[in-house]
Amino acid sequence: MHEASLVQGLLSLVLETVRDHNEAHPDDQVERITDIVCDMGLLSCVEPQTLSGCMELLAEGTPAEGARLTLRTSPLPCTCSRCGAAFELTRRHFACPVCGGDELNFSGGHGLTLQSISVASSPMQAGEEEHARTH
Ligand SMILES: [Zn+2]
Repeated sequence: MHEASLVQGLLSLVLETVRDHNEAHPDDQVERITDIVCDMGLLSCVEPQTLSGCMELLAEGTPAEGARLTLRTSPLPCTCSRCGAAFELTRRHFACPVCGGDELNFSGGHGLTLQSISVASSPMQAGEEEHARTH
């Protein structure tokens, strides 16, 4: 499944970041990850809901369990091959805003890019854990 492999890649990057941090800062241990923010390429053709679902499953038992996944769509820089205009596409509407041409040059726009993570260095409170389990 396309989404699962994307999420797997993202998650291992997140967990690696936390592991590196913990190794470098023995006095400031990250216990869990609360938020993950990433940019989604305009052409990545993935459903945010499917991604969140995959993240929930794959993060189970890791410090990222229960983390909130925020997805943003990143604009795609393009140039028009007819009139040469340079612009950014923010939705999948492939037409030049200057001349209306549909021959556009662009690169990238696929996949997920990790932007930031938020962490908590204190263990989960008992009450919180209850709450998380009933969800
Ligand atoms: Zn144009």
